[in-house]
Amino acid sequence: MSDQAVANEIQRILERGRAASAGAAADGLCHDCGERIGAERLAALPSAVRCVGCQAAWEQVQTGT
Ligand SMILES: [Zn+2]
Repeated sequence: MSDQAVANEIQRILERGRAASAGAAADGLCHDCGERIGAERLAALPSAVRCVGCQAAWEQVQTGT
């Protein structure tokens, strides 16, 4: 392996680790319905894994109402 190939491999592994630690929203898609989570929502709540609609429904389930 050339130095460049090693560097590329390390970069790939690092990026994979970052995506995994960022969770389901790493691709910006809702965990429940697969729709895009709005950029504004992600900016306000980077850890958001659901779109607004699915988050509201999920919270209703959690609170039992
Ligand atoms: Zn959704």
